Amino acid sequence: MSRGLLIVLSGPSGVGKGTVCNALRGKMDNIVYSVSATTRHPRLGEENGVNYFFKSREQFNDMIEQDQLLEYAEYVGNYYGTPRDFVEQTLDNGQDIILEIEVQGALKVKEKFPKGIFIFLLPPSLDELKDRITGRGTESQDTIDHRLSVAVDEINLMEHYDYAVVNDQIDHACKRIESIVIAEHCKVKQK
Ligand code: 5GP
Repeated sequence: MSRGLLIVLSGPSGVGKGTVCNALRGKMDNIVYSVSATTRHPRLGEENGVNYFFKSREQFNDMIEQDQLLEYAEYVGNYYGTPRDFVEQTLDNGQDIILEIEVQGALKVKEKFPKGIFIFLLPPSLDELKDRITGRGTESQDTIDHRLSVAVDEINLMEHYDYAVVNDQIDHACKRIESIVIAEHCKVKQK
Protein backbone atom coordinates (compact mmCIF):
# COMPACT_ATOMS: atom_id res chain seq x y z
CA MET A 1 0.00 0.00 0.00
CA SER A 2 1.40 3.39 -0.93
CA ARG A 3 1.52 6.28 1.49
CA GLY A 4 -1.12 8.97 1.30
CA LEU A 5 -0.42 12.43 -0.01
CA LEU A 6 0.38 15.27 2.35
CA ILE A 7 -1.47 18.31 1.05
CA VAL A 8 -0.76 21.70 2.54
CA LEU A 9 -3.36 24.37 1.92
CA SER A 10 -2.02 27.73 2.90
CA GLY A 11 -2.43 31.40 2.15
CA PRO A 12 -3.21 34.63 3.96
CA SER A 13 -5.69 34.85 6.81
CA GLY A 14 -9.18 35.66 5.59
CA VAL A 15 -8.68 34.06 2.19
CA GLY A 16 -11.12 31.30 3.10
CA LYS A 17 -8.83 28.34 3.76
CA GLY A 18 -11.10 26.97 6.47
CA THR A 19 -14.23 27.33 4.37
CA VAL A 20 -12.58 25.72 1.36
CA CYS A 21 -11.26 22.85 3.51
CA ASN A 22 -14.71 22.23 4.98
CA ALA A 23 -16.27 22.24 1.53
CA LEU A 24 -13.60 19.80 0.32
CA ARG A 25 -14.41 17.40 3.14
CA GLY A 26 -17.89 17.03 1.73
CA LYS A 27 -16.56 16.35 -1.77
CA MET A 28 -13.44 14.23 -1.33
CA ASP A 29 -14.08 11.34 1.03
CA ASN A 30 -10.53 9.97 1.01
CA ILE A 31 -9.13 13.15 2.52
CA VAL A 32 -8.50 13.50 6.23
CA TYR A 33 -8.45 16.90 7.87
CA SER A 34 -5.68 17.63 10.36
CA VAL A 35 -6.94 19.38 13.53
CA SER A 36 -4.40 21.88 14.85
CA ALA A 37 -3.59 22.86 18.41
CA THR A 38 -3.84 26.55 19.26
CA THR A 39 -3.55 28.94 22.20
CA ARG A 40 -6.23 31.17 20.62
CA HIS A 41 -9.56 31.36 22.44
CA PRO A 42 -12.46 29.60 20.69
CA ARG A 43 -14.70 31.77 18.52
CA LEU A 44 -18.45 31.44 18.85
CA GLY A 45 -19.51 28.02 17.62
CA GLU A 46 -16.01 26.52 17.58
CA GLU A 47 -15.58 23.17 19.32
CA ASN A 48 -12.57 21.65 21.01
CA GLY A 49 -11.26 18.70 18.99
CA VAL A 50 -13.31 19.67 15.94
CA ASN A 51 -12.06 23.11 14.85
CA TYR A 52 -8.94 23.09 17.02
CA PHE A 53 -7.51 21.54 20.14
CA PHE A 54 -7.67 24.62 22.37
CA LYS A 55 -4.64 24.71 24.68
CA SER A 56 -3.21 26.97 27.36
CA ARG A 57 0.21 28.45 26.63
CA GLU A 58 1.66 25.98 29.14
CA GLN A 59 0.03 22.96 27.49
CA PHE A 60 1.21 24.18 24.09
CA ASN A 61 4.77 24.54 25.41
CA ASP A 62 4.61 20.97 26.72
CA MET A 63 3.61 19.76 23.24
CA ILE A 64 6.62 21.59 21.78
CA GLU A 65 8.98 20.17 24.41
CA GLN A 66 7.70 16.64 23.87
CA ASP A 67 8.20 17.05 20.12
CA GLN A 68 4.51 16.38 19.47
CA LEU A 69 4.21 19.06 16.80
CA LEU A 70 5.23 18.66 13.18
CA GLU A 71 5.44 22.43 12.95
CA TYR A 72 4.19 25.41 14.89
CA ALA A 73 4.13 29.14 14.42
CA GLU A 74 3.18 32.27 16.28
CA TYR A 75 0.53 34.13 14.38
CA VAL A 76 -0.88 37.51 15.49
CA GLY A 77 -0.18 36.85 19.16
CA ASN A 78 -1.27 33.20 19.33
CA TYR A 79 0.42 29.85 18.75
CA TYR A 80 -0.78 27.28 16.21
CA GLY A 81 0.70 23.84 15.56
CA THR A 82 0.09 20.55 13.76
CA PRO A 83 0.02 17.37 15.90
CA ARG A 84 2.65 15.11 14.33
CA ASP A 85 1.48 11.56 15.14
CA PHE A 86 -1.93 11.97 13.52
CA VAL A 87 -0.33 13.14 10.26
CA GLU A 88 2.18 10.27 10.19
CA GLN A 89 -0.47 7.64 11.03
CA THR A 90 -2.86 8.93 8.37
CA LEU A 91 -0.15 8.87 5.68
CA ASP A 92 0.97 5.39 6.78
CA ASN A 93 -2.64 4.20 6.41
CA GLY A 94 -2.50 5.27 2.77
CA GLN A 95 -4.88 8.17 3.28
CA ASP A 96 -4.38 11.73 2.07
CA ILE A 97 -4.31 14.44 4.70
CA ILE A 98 -4.84 18.18 4.37
CA LEU A 99 -3.14 20.68 6.63
CA GLU A 100 -4.76 24.10 6.59
CA ILE A 101 -2.03 26.30 8.04
CA GLU A 102 -0.43 29.73 7.71
CA VAL A 103 2.58 30.37 5.52
CA GLN A 104 5.47 30.16 8.02
CA GLY A 105 4.25 26.75 9.20
CA ALA A 106 3.77 25.60 5.62
CA LEU A 107 7.39 26.42 4.80
CA LYS A 108 8.54 24.44 7.85
CA VAL A 109 6.47 21.44 6.69
CA LYS A 110 8.13 21.76 3.28
CA GLU A 111 11.56 21.27 4.88
CA LYS A 112 10.36 18.04 6.53
CA PHE A 113 8.09 16.80 3.73
CA PRO A 114 9.56 18.05 0.45
CA LYS A 115 7.30 15.54 -1.32
CA GLY A 116 4.19 17.25 -0.01
CA ILE A 117 1.87 19.15 -2.31
CA PHE A 118 1.85 22.82 -1.46
CA ILE A 119 -1.18 24.79 -2.55
CA PHE A 120 -1.42 28.55 -2.08
CA LEU A 121 -4.92 29.97 -1.86
CA LEU A 122 -5.14 33.53 -3.18
CA PRO A 123 -7.84 36.16 -2.74
CA PRO A 124 -9.22 37.61 -6.00
CA SER A 125 -7.71 40.95 -4.85
CA LEU A 126 -6.31 42.63 -1.72
CA ASP A 127 -9.49 44.75 -1.42
CA GLU A 128 -11.52 41.57 -1.36
CA LEU A 129 -9.27 40.14 1.36
CA LYS A 130 -9.70 43.28 3.47
CA ASP A 131 -13.49 43.01 3.12
CA ARG A 132 -13.40 39.36 4.17
CA ILE A 133 -11.23 39.98 7.25
CA THR A 134 -13.35 42.99 8.28
CA GLY A 135 -16.62 41.24 7.48
CA ARG A 136 -15.90 38.36 9.85
CA GLY A 137 -16.76 40.86 12.61
CA THR A 138 -14.93 38.93 15.31
CA GLU A 139 -11.66 40.87 15.38
CA SER A 140 -10.59 44.29 16.72
CA GLN A 141 -9.32 46.98 14.30
CA ASP A 142 -5.73 46.44 15.50
CA THR A 143 -5.97 42.72 14.79
CA ILE A 144 -7.50 43.38 11.36
CA ASP A 145 -4.67 45.80 10.45
CA HIS A 146 -2.08 43.34 11.72
CA ARG A 147 -3.63 40.45 9.77
CA LEU A 148 -3.67 42.52 6.58
CA SER A 149 -0.02 43.51 6.81
CA VAL A 150 0.91 39.89 7.54
CA ALA A 151 -1.18 38.87 4.49
CA VAL A 152 0.84 41.07 2.14
CA ASP A 153 4.12 39.57 3.44
CA GLU A 154 2.63 36.09 3.05
CA ILE A 155 1.57 36.59 -0.56
CA ASN A 156 5.21 37.39 -1.37
CA LEU A 157 6.13 33.82 -0.34
CA MET A 158 3.90 32.20 -2.96
CA GLU A 159 6.90 31.22 -5.12
CA HIS A 160 7.73 28.41 -2.65
CA TYR A 161 4.48 26.62 -3.49
CA ASP A 162 3.59 24.11 -6.21
CA TYR A 163 0.17 25.51 -7.07
CA ALA A 164 -1.74 28.78 -6.76
CA VAL A 165 -5.53 28.65 -6.54
CA VAL A 166 -7.66 31.80 -6.59
CA ASN A 167 -10.57 31.59 -4.17
CA ASP A 168 -13.06 33.57 -6.25
CA GLN A 169 -15.89 31.15 -5.46
CA ILE A 170 -15.71 28.25 -3.00
CA ASP A 171 -16.96 25.73 -5.56
CA HIS A 172 -14.45 26.82 -8.20
CA ALA A 173 -11.57 26.75 -5.71
CA CYS A 174 -12.62 23.26 -4.54
CA LYS A 175 -12.77 22.01 -8.12
CA ARG A 176 -9.24 23.29 -8.80
CA ILE A 177 -7.91 21.64 -5.63
CA GLU A 178 -9.71 18.37 -6.41
CA SER A 179 -8.15 18.43 -9.89
CA ILE A 180 -4.69 19.00 -8.42
CA VAL A 181 -5.07 16.04 -6.04
CA ILE A 182 -6.40 13.77 -8.80
CA ALA A 183 -3.52 14.77 -11.09
CA GLU A 184 -0.98 14.15 -8.31
CA HIS A 185 -2.36 10.62 -7.85
CA CYS A 186 -2.00 10.01 -11.60
CA LYS A 187 1.66 11.01 -11.71
CA VAL A 188 3.99 8.35 -13.06
CA LYS A 189 6.78 9.58 -10.84
CA GLN A 190 6.05 11.23 -7.53
CA LYS A 191 8.31 14.15 -6.60
P1 5GP B 1 -7.56 31.49 12.88
O1 5GP B 1 -7.21 32.15 14.17
O2 5GP B 1 -8.20 32.47 11.91
O3 5GP B 1 -8.35 30.21 13.05
O4 5GP B 1 -6.19 31.03 12.19
C1 5GP B 1 -5.17 31.93 12.02
C2 5GP B 1 -4.15 31.35 11.08
O5 5GP B 1 -3.50 30.22 11.66
C3 5GP B 1 -4.76 30.85 9.76
O6 5GP B 1 -3.95 31.32 8.70
C4 5GP B 1 -4.67 29.35 9.89
O7 5GP B 1 -4.52 28.71 8.62
C5 5GP B 1 -3.42 29.20 10.70
N1 5GP B 1 -3.27 27.90 11.33
C6 5GP B 1 -4.24 27.07 11.78
N2 5GP B 1 -3.71 25.94 12.27
C7 5GP B 1 -2.37 26.04 12.11
C8 5GP B 1 -1.26 25.17 12.42
O8 5GP B 1 -1.40 24.06 12.92
N3 5GP B 1 -0.03 25.63 12.11
C9 5GP B 1 0.18 26.84 11.55
N4 5GP B 1 1.44 27.17 11.28
N5 5GP B 1 -0.83 27.68 11.24
C10 5GP B 1 -2.09 27.28 11.53
